[in-house]
Amino acid sequence: MTARYGIGVIGGGLVGVCCALALRRDGHEVTLIEPKGVGSGASFGNAGLMSSGGCVPIGMPGMIWKVPAMLRKADGPLVIRWRYAPRIAPWLLRLLAASRPARVEQISIALASLLEAAQAAYRRLLSDEDYDALIARRGLLFPYRSEASFERAAPSRALRARRGVEFQVLGRSELQRMQPALGGKQAMGVYFPEARHTVDPQGLARHLATSFTREKGETLTAAVDAIEIERNGRPCVSMGETRRRFDKIVVAAGAWSRRLAGMCGTRVPLDTERGYHAMLPDPEVEVRVPMISGDHSVAVTPMSGGLRISGTVEFAGLSAPPDYRCAERLVGIAERLLPGLNAKGAQYWMGFRPSLPDSMPVIGPAPRNHNVLYAFGHGHLGVTYAAITGQLIADCAAERRTAVDLGPFSAARF
Ligand SMILES: Cc1cc2nc3c(=O)[nH]c(=O)nc-3n(C[C@H](O)[C@H](O)[C@H](O)COP(=O)(O)OP(=O)(O)OC[C@H]3O[C@@H](n4cnc5c(N)ncnc54)[C@H](O)[C@@H]3O)c2cc1C
Repeated sequence: MTARYGIGVIGGGLVGVCCALALRRDGHEVTLIEPKGVGSGASFGNAGLMSSGGCVPIGMPGMIWKVPAMLRKADGPLVIRWRYAPRIAPWLLRLLAASRPARVEQISIALASLLEAAQAAYRRLLSDEDYDALIARRGLLFPYRSEASFERAAPSRALRARRGVEFQVLGRSELQRMQPALGGKQAMGVYFPEARHTVDPQGLARHLATSFTREKGETLTAAVDAIEIERNGRPCVSMGETRRRFDKIVVAAGAWSRRLAGMCGTRVPLDTERGYHAMLPDPEVEVRVPMISGDHSVAVTPMSGGLRISGTVEFAGLSAPPDYRCAERLVGIAERLLPGLNAKGAQYWMGFRPSLPDSMPVIGPAPRNHNVLYAFGHGHLGVTYAAITGQLIADCAAERRTAVDLGPFSAARF
């Protein structure tokens, strides 16, 4: 029989909520600690895509040579606030090291092992009815303006093909048939039939949190400001005047996890790739299949509240104010992609991707203390990997054999 523990889960984003529910279903006494409301961080405003091809790291071989052009382009996908440049430089050097061909191959094998189990894990957390209401299966399309831009993405396609990811290459007319809203202006496309997307990212997190509460999980509205590891190895967390002892804790505070992991004795090079979205309530074009523009890395996702246009990687840390011109630029790109798009009433948002330079999350026990479990750093793919992360954390707490080898995801790799 599995031992029952008192477990504190720090952070109520999608990752934390999936951990809390999976742990509760194993019979533990679980307390979810979140100061701002469930699903209000990156889990609120993401593009909602559950990518079936999410085994390609951000740092691909040769990417360093593309960076100057990306920074020069007025509507390019990459922004560095120069004041933050000295802070992000070590992270970028690690990204460069992770983009060596042999390392990229290892990273993509590890990410593919998560991908394989990702949807089954959502199926376990949601009833069939709720899964069908919250998660749509329409695939994912990458349109390319020209054959040249399609060719530039050949290394990512080859990597996905090596991992056995299913995709179809589409010519102009097939692309037009699949996505008439593109107006026939794109030359090529790549379609991933197995991809899913959530039609309501925050709704998904809240729904799982409601199940957690219904199943007698405890939620505290508080921020953890200190973690102490007592002599017996048990963690004790402080939230203002309140202190709580747990048998185990899970650090799942997204982009804010670096400081908390530090309090548990682990240094991780976690930073944030800030991202933006524009939510268009009345787009007036029908986007049948979610897309990521192959030329601009801008995602277009049909959701229950309208059409969401998202993207941008901005390096500026956790405290600089948003620069909503980034979101306006995303709208401009979407208007060129989708003739007739109505952007009136657009609502802008900025959020913090929790990113490690090798594009892999940290999942599993802290290197020197098995009472501290880590579940953070999911970068661009936290929606895709949240449910499987929850399952793996529950396996770790129960000291069961994990469905996925967690070696590559250990914090000890840094
Ligand atoms: C523009 C954009 C588009 C994206 N698109 C996709 C996509 O299409 N597909 C995909 O898979 N991923 C996507 N992502 C990434 C995904 O959103 C994230 O990886 C994921 O949401 C991370 O979830 P999380 O729970 O780790 O973090 P968050 O959702 O940020 O949650 C962290 C929580 O921790 C809480 N917290 C912080 N400090 C403390 C503390 N001291 N004590 C207690 N709680 C604390 C915060 O309040 C927050 O609620 C996108 C991200 C962005 C920004």
